Amino acid sequence: MLKAINPRPLTRIGHGFDSHEFREGIPLKLGGVSLPHTKGLGGHSDGDVLLHAITDALLGAMAAPDIGALFPPSDPKWKGADSVVFLREALNRVRASGYTVCNLDASLILAAPRIGPHAPAIRNRVAELLGVNSDCVGLKAKTPEGLNLENTAVAHVVVLLQKEITSKKTRSKNTRKSEQKAARS
Ligand code: MG
Repeated sequence: MLKAINPRPLTRIGHGFDSHEFREGIPLKLGGVSLPHTKGLGGHSDGDVLLHAITDALLGAMAAPDIGALFPPSDPKWKGADSVVFLREALNRVRASGYTVCNLDASLILAAPRIGPHAPAIRNRVAELLGVNSDCVGLKAKTPEGLNLENTAVAHVVVLLQKEITSKKTRSKNTRKSEQKAARS
């Protein structure tokens, strides 16, 4: 068996994707925020497609089992569950492995409602859930032109993690460098 060249990477990247169908008469939640709309997203839990994609991105970055494996839709325990529970479990796994979230970037694809007016609230809520600044949460919304997905919400998420110790090492290395530079000048 080949010896791993980088057994403990300083950074890890994860990608998450999810899609849910709109249904009449249920509340709409995106990124942990309730949005006013005539339809919500169906699913076994609260249907929060963005939190599901973020959860899978975090789990993917850790090469952990995905959201469907950890929280199977067949388990009645998760019926109507707040998707924040899934995100927190993924984040706990990230932190237990010594990593922290660096930043994430998300794309939402849906015909309605318009996300622009709600984007600051969604970014703030996601940042709060992840324990990062809101300028570390990118959120873009697109309409599904040419995709024939007028009744579907899709989310793509990319997340970057870094070893918690890395930032300290990098800081101290940078500090040493700046001290050496200052001493030379
Ligand atoms: Mg889902």
